[in-house]
Amino acid sequence: MAALQYLSGNDIRTKFLDFYAQKQHQILPSASLVPEDPTVLLTIAGMLPFKPIFLGQRQSEYKRATTSQKCIRTNDIENVGRTARHHTFFEMLGNFSFGDYFKEQAIAWGWELSTQVFGLKPENLVVSVFEDDDEAYNIWRDKIGVVEARIKRMGSDDNFWVSGPTGPCGPCSEIYYDFHPERGEENIDLEDDTRFIEFYNLVFMQYNRDVEGNLTPLQNKNIDTGMGLERMAQILQQVPNNYETDLIKPIVKTATQIAGIDYAQSDEQTKISLKVIGDHIRAIVHMIADGITASNVGRGYILRRLIRRVVRHGRLMGIQGEFTTQVAESAIALSEDAYPNVRSKATAIKNELQREEANFLKTLTKGEKLLADILAKSPKEISGKEAFILYDTHGFPLELTQEIAAEHGITVDVQGFEDEMEIQIGTSKGAHETIDLTANSLNQLASGINATQFLGYTQPSTPAQVMTLIASGQQVEAAEAGSEVQVLLDQTPFYAESGGQIGDRGYLSGDSVVVAINDVKQQSGIYIHYGRIERGTLKVGDPVMAQIDRTCRLRAQANHTATHLLQAALKKIVDPSISQAGSLVAFDRLRFDFNCPRPITPDELQQIEAQVNTWIAEAHHADIEVMPIAEAKAKGAIAMFGEKYGDVVRVIDFPGVSMELCGGTHVRNTAEIGVFKIVSETGISSGVRRIEAVAGAAVLDYLNVRDKVVRELSDRFKVKPEELPMRVTVLQTELKTAQKQLESLKAELTLHKSETLLTEAQNIGDYKIIVAQIGEVEPDSLKIAAERLLQKIGKGAVVLGSVPETDKVSLVAAFSPDVNKKGLQAGKFVGEIAKICGGGGGGRPNLAQAGGKDASKLPEALEYARTQLKATLSQS
Ligand code: ATP
Ligand code: MG
Repeated sequence: MAALQYLSGNDIRTKFLDFYAQKQHQILPSASLVPEDPTVLLTIAGMLPFKPIFLGQRQSEYKRATTSQKCIRTNDIENVGRTARHHTFFEMLGNFSFGDYFKEQAIAWGWELSTQVFGLKPENLVVSVFEDDDEAYNIWRDKIGVVEARIKRMGSDDNFWVSGPTGPCGPCSEIYYDFHPERGEENIDLEDDTRFIEFYNLVFMQYNRDVEGNLTPLQNKNIDTGMGLERMAQILQQVPNNYETDLIKPIVKTATQIAGIDYAQSDEQTKISLKVIGDHIRAIVHMIADGITASNVGRGYILRRLIRRVVRHGRLMGIQGEFTTQVAESAIALSEDAYPNVRSKATAIKNELQREEANFLKTLTKGEKLLADILAKSPKEISGKEAFILYDTHGFPLELTQEIAAEHGITVDVQGFEDEMEIQIGTSKGAHETIDLTANSLNQLASGINATQFLGYTQPSTPAQVMTLIASGQQVEAAEAGSEVQVLLDQTPFYAESGGQIGDRGYLSGDSVVVAINDVKQQSGIYIHYGRIERGTLKVGDPVMAQIDRTCRLRAQANHTATHLLQAALKKIVDPSISQAGSLVAFDRLRFDFNCPRPITPDELQQIEAQVNTWIAEAHHADIEVMPIAEAKAKGAIAMFGEKYGDVVRVIDFPGVSMELCGGTHVRNTAEIGVFKIVSETGISSGVRRIEAVAGAAVLDYLNVRDKVVRELSDRFKVKPEELPMRVTVLQTELKTAQKQLESLKAELTLHKSETLLTEAQNIGDYKIIVAQIGEVEPDSLKIAAERLLQKIGKGAVVLGSVPETDKVSLVAAFSPDVNKKGLQAGKFVGEIAKICGGGGGGRPNLAQAGGKDASKLPEALEYARTQLKATLSQS
C-alpha cells in the first residue's frame, strides 16, 4: 500500500475545517444532537441544522459554512461492530454552500482536500455519480482527470438525495477509498466493503420536486456534503476498522482492562462486544451531555437502549458488576477537547449511567426469572412473542434467551421474534435517514412564504397584512364571521409557542373585521395565528391591526422569568449540576422538569421559594442581549438544548442571578413578578423531577382557590383558619372514640341476640347444641357470642354463622371438652363446613373460626353442621 501520512482524529477534523475556512467558509460549532427540527429525533447529518436555510425559510448570515457535526444514526445500530465503518455516533465533516458555489467547485475542492490535504493517491480513489448526471461525470473526467474506469454511475437508491416526497433534492457524488487497487479496474463493485469504503458524499441540491414528481431547477442551488471523520481516520491510520482508530481504541482498551481480556486474542464475538461498547458509550456520553435522559419514549428510549446494550455486552464478555462509568470516563477524556461540554457535564453523565445500569441489572435478573418460569412449563420452543416480550418489555436480549433456552435443549422462534420486531419498528422506519423537509402541508404551502417578522419583544401591537388564510384545512381567499381560521401575517407581535412558553392571545382587527386569536404556533419561522372570526369577513391582503392581550402576556412573562429564577435557585441550593429536562410556561402556572436523582426535600423547597422571592424583592434588572452563541456560552449562559444553530442567540441576563439563552418573553425587572409560590414537587420518571409553581398574578388565582376552601371549612367548623388543624385533630379523635363505642355496642347487641338462641338449644343425650345464623355480625362479635353461649350450655357445641358484608361469610365453632372427647375438633369441623361456602379456616379444638365467600350456601353449611353434630353426639 502506498505510504499514507498518519493523522490523528483531531488533526483530520482541524485540517478539514481549516481547508474550507481558507476557502471563505465560516466555521460553525456542532449543533446539539437534539435537533430543533421536530421531524427527526436526533441530528442525523451535518445538513440538518441548515434545513430551514435550504428550504428558504431562514436567511443565512453566511454563504458558505463548514462544520464538524455530532450525528447519531440509530438505523445503523445493527451494523455496529459488524461492519468496519458504521456507528451510531459519529462526526460528519461538511462544507455547505447556500446558493453560492455549486457542483464544479464542490467536486474540485472535494478532490483537492482528499488528495492534497489528506494525501490520498488518485489510484486509490473511485467516485460514483448519479446515472443521469452527465454534468458531474464530465467534471470528474475532464476537469479532475479521473480515469473512466474509476467513475461509476449509480442508481437513484444510492445517488439521488431526496428530503421527502416533495421539496429540494438532487444527485449525489461519492468518493470511495480503494484498499486493493491491485485487484484491477475491470470489476469494480462499490458495494464490496472488503475493498471499498465510502468516505465523502457530495449532494448537489439542484431541483425542487412537486407532488407529481416533476423536477424543476432551483433558483438557488445548494451544496451539502458529508465526510465521516472516523472513516477518514481508519484510512489514514491504516487500521482495519473505525474502532481501531485513535478516536475509539482507547475506550475499547478500557473495556478490555475491566474485563481482564486482550483485544487481539479475543474471538470475533468478544470483539463485536468491545466495538459495541466503544461505539455506544460515545453516543451515550454526547446524548446525556446534550440534555437527554433515559426514559421510555423518544430520544430517552434510544438512550436507554444504548445503555442497556452496553451493559449486556459487558456481561457477555464476563463483566459482572457496574462498569459503564469507567468506559464513559475514557470517552469523555477523548472528546473533551473538541466538545468541552462532555467534561462539564461529566458528573451528570456518570450519575445517569450509574442509575440506568443499576436498574437494568435488576431487570436482567428479573428477565432471567421470567424465562425460568417459561422454561418450567417445558415448552417445545420459546415462541417469538414470548422472546419479544422478554426483549421489549423487560429489556432481555434475544441472544440471552437463545443461550439459556439452548442450555435446556430447546430453541427460540427467531423468525417469530423478528416478525414481532418488524411490526414494532416498521412504523418508525424510514423516518430515520430521510430528512423530511415537508413535515406537513403547511410546509408545501409555505414554500415561497417568507418567515414572519416577530416584533413582539418590544411591541404589543403592530399593523400587519394577511398573507395566507386557511379555513377547514384549505387555503382560502376569504373567510366569514364564525369561521375557525389560521392566519399568516407578514409581521406580528404575537409570541408563538416555543421553549415551553405558550403562544400569545389577542385580536386582529381591520375594517369591520375582528378575529379573536386563541393560540399561535410557529414552524420554521412562520407564525400561524389560530383564531375565530368574530365579525365581518377576513380576506387575504387585508391590512389588520394585530394586538396581543397584555394581561395574558404579563402573566406568561412573570411565569417565564420565574422559571429561570427557579432553575438558578435549584442550582444554588440543591446542586449546581442540575439541568433542565423540560418546561412549561402558561398564563396561570409554570412547570420545570429537571434531572436530579432524588426528591427535593421540603426544607430545600422552602429555601428555594424564599430565594426566588428574595431575588424578586431585590428588583434585578434584565439585560437582554443578542450575541453570537460562542460569546454567550463563554459568558456562562445556561444553554438549553434546541437553540438556533450557528445563529446569534438571545441571552436573558439578570446579572448575578441567572443567565440563560432563551427566545421567550420576560419581565424587565424581577420586581414585576411580585411573588412566587411552589405548588408541588414530584418525580415524573427515573431521575427526572418536576416542580410546579405559580408566579405573579397567577399566585392570586392559586391563593384564591385555596382561600375559598379554607373559608368554607372554617365556616363549617366554626373556627378561625389557623385553628383548623387543631379542630380536625379533635374531630378525628372523636370519630375514633365513636367508632370504638359503636363496635362494643354491636358486640353487646350480638350477645343479646344470642341469648335468645339459648331457647333454641337442642338436646342430644346430655349434650346441648346451638347451630344458628345471626344477621350481619362481624367475626369478632360472633366469636364472643359463641364463647358466651357455650359457657351457658356447659356441655355441648355452638356453631354460628353470619354474613358481615356482601360476598363474605363468617363462621365460628365452640366445642366443650366432652365434645372433643367424642372426636370432634372445632378447627377441623369449622374448616369442613366453610368449604361449602367456598372458603376455609380452622383453629384450636375448642374454638375456631372460618370464612367463606358464598352467602347463599350458608344455610346449607349450617344444616350440614347440625347433622354432623347430631350424628356424632348421639352415639353412645
Ligand atoms: P453507507 O452507505 O456507508 O451507510 P451513507 O450513504 O449512509 O453511508 P451518507 O448519508 O452519505 O452515508 O453520509 C455521509 C458520510 O457520513 C458518509 O460518506 C460516511 O463517511 C459518513 N457516515 C454515514 N453513516 C455513517 C455511520 N453510520 N457511521 C460512521 N460514518 C457514517
Ligand atoms: Mg448509511
